[in-house]
Amino acid sequence: IKKIAVLTSGGDAPGMNAAIRAVQRTGMHHGIEVYGVMHGYLGLYQNEIKLLERQDVANMLNRGGTFLGSARFPKFKEETVRQQAVENLRALDIEALVVIGGDGSYMGAKALTEMGFPCIGLPGTIDNDIPGTDYTIGYLTALNTVLEAVDRLRDTSSSHNRISLIEIMGRHCGDLTLAAAVAGGAEYVIIPEKPFDEEALITALGNPSARRKSHAIVCITENMTDTEALAKRIEERTGQEARATILGHIQRGGAPRGFDRVLASQMGVYAVELLMQGHGGRCVGIQSNQLVHHDIIEAITTMQRPFKQDLFNTFKKLV
Ligand code: ADP
Repeated sequence: IKKIAVLTSGGDAPGMNAAIRAVQRTGMHHGIEVYGVMHGYLGLYQNEIKLLERQDVANMLNRGGTFLGSARFPKFKEETVRQQAVENLRALDIEALVVIGGDGSYMGAKALTEMGFPCIGLPGTIDNDIPGTDYTIGYLTALNTVLEAVDRLRDTSSSHNRISLIEIMGRHCGDLTLAAAVAGGAEYVIIPEKPFDEEALITALGNPSARRKSHAIVCITENMTDTEALAKRIEERTGQEARATILGHIQRGGAPRGFDRVLASQMGVYAVELLMQGHGGRCVGIQSNQLVHHDIIEAITTMQRPFKQDLFNTFKKLV
């Protein structure tokens, strides 16, 4: 294998740059040219593909976001659009592609692999919602960012005896919320993996003496409900001041923490080595501290992500 390409797609995550760098440096180490595709699948279609030199990835290890840019490009679901993308790659004699992104991006990588163009997926998302890996690149950095916010909200909500609802990202995955609830000492956690009983929450919040404190922190995953409206209902029903804070995109930004830099570096090296061994249509993960690879199609169609019931039990014991 002589030439490969790398792109970042979907929501950005801290550590994506570290992964791109690792792919470029590993390629260079083995005499493989590495091309960078701008703006994910959009740039692949529009032929925005350029050779990455050593200096292009210098000083990138510690930078948040992705210097290649990312984009949502729903038209990539169309076969003719993907055909053009494959032609663009083949015109440059590029033989394989590393895709760094979430499960939507994996769908694109799967489709390209099925068209005869081998892809390797790296899990890059703060949501930690990708099957076949214990951790995604960006998740633990985002956890630290969320915790900074939770700590600050604790200061103000305890000073004012206020109920603080904190909406945390994760799409349909409660990992970030649950970890933040444990590490941030929240009183309540609302996550997609567990049924949400609003009445029970309001009853509990309305009885501060049973809680033994008058302020409360409630961590809730995005998409569960309208968090602002929930705060209003809680305030009306309990007579206690309640405020919603939607953390939003600040959770995606910032320099990757050490763990994510190490993870992204390991996975980037592994992806290139898998391609050198002739693998395609695989996605990379870390499970029980071991780098692993799975069939990308199986990963998105049949593999399940286990719910962290033990962490949930831990949370329940500590409130
Ligand atoms: P994420 O990768 O973070 O889950 P998205 O779900 O937005 O983000 O997916 C990123 C991109 O992957 C989409 O904008 C689209 O270009 C591509 N994609 C998503 N689903 C498919 C699919 N079924 N077939 C081909 N490409 C897809």
